[in-house]
Amino acid sequence: MMAAMLTRRDFLQTTACALGGLAFVNCNVPGAASPTASLTAASPPGAQGRRREVVVNGKRAKTVDVHAHCAVPEALARLNLKLEGAFLRPDLDMMTAVSARLAAMDEQGIDVEALSINPNWYKAERDLARQVITIQNEKLAEVCAAHPERFVAFATVALQFPDLAAEQLEESVKKYGLRGAAIGGSVNGEELSDPKFHPFWAKVEQLGVVVFIHPQPDGAPAQLSQRLTGNGYLNNVIGNPLETTIALSHLIFEGTFDKFPGVKVIAAHAGGFLPSYSGRADHGCPTRPDVCPGGTHGSIKKTPSAYLTQLYYDTMVFHPEGVRHLVAEVGASQLLVGTDAPYPWTKTAVDLILQTPGLADADKMAMLGGTAARLLGIQ
Ligand SMILES: [Zn+2]
Repeated sequence: MMAAMLTRRDFLQTTACALGGLAFVNCNVPGAASPTASLTAASPPGAQGRRREVVVNGKRAKTVDVHAHCAVPEALARLNLKLEGAFLRPDLDMMTAVSARLAAMDEQGIDVEALSINPNWYKAERDLARQVITIQNEKLAEVCAAHPERFVAFATVALQFPDLAAEQLEESVKKYGLRGAAIGGSVNGEELSDPKFHPFWAKVEQLGVVVFIHPQPDGAPAQLSQRLTGNGYLNNVIGNPLETTIALSHLIFEGTFDKFPGVKVIAAHAGGFLPSYSGRADHGCPTRPDVCPGGTHGSIKKTPSAYLTQLYYDTMVFHPEGVRHLVAEVGASQLLVGTDAPYPWTKTAVDLILQTPGLADADKMAMLGGTAARLLGIQ
């Protein structure tokens, strides 16, 4: 695959040079008089169509983006939805927009994306949900097979039917080679810690795969829609991390992580507000023991913040100081690159890690991709 891509790129480059030089192609021909020479020389590496190779202290880092979205038009059609507008962006389609996606990955120094699809099928009845999931997981497997060096994927599951979701996850992992599941932060108003979802968590633990929790619009953003209006994109900026914060808090405080200690979770958007408020989580029950019967923190086995160091998080906080703080709260071993591609939140997710103060080279290597590769079974 790699050889084929390089060959094609070389071909394009040669062609472009033959045509007299295009602005974004570096025609590396000695003595070539190109009107764009100074422009290309001044352009960042990615703008020339070259794949950015991330290096830490002389060592090539294989970078993995665990937070990358896509969608499948055929599945959306079953739900009477289609790819249009700013949310269901047309470039979520891996069949038509894969070249642009690969170019963006090359430019940003992302070697592998772990693809996920935001749930919008939790209200579908069982047969329809089954069809939507089958279509999506087959397409995800297809795109990963077509680009095995660049994409892995999280399975979609019909979590409103936990038994079916468990079945779908097992099939996705064993039949399609998908690497885990992507789920929302709640399911039709029900918390992920609800005992009805135990069959799903049991299957996750049994398979030893990872679950990516990403907020979907019908959770906290919709429930607080009257408050999150106005300037600032607050339904996302506040609503999305809040949804994740609530989801993780219930999984901790309702004992789900005690019951299924082998469950591995990656939380989107750096786990929302939770890592920044871990001290508050630890002090709630001791302050009001009457609402936490059973022990110092209710009936859970550990101090709430102790659970945070067993979860994984993307580093979508945009400031190096934010990543430094995350490292202090949860440990460098728990942090992964996230971009939210193709949504244009960031083009510098790799640089964010490289610029975070106080990190050892081994921490950077782990955060850039080492840990994600281990969690997702990437060679
Ligand atoms: Zn996202």
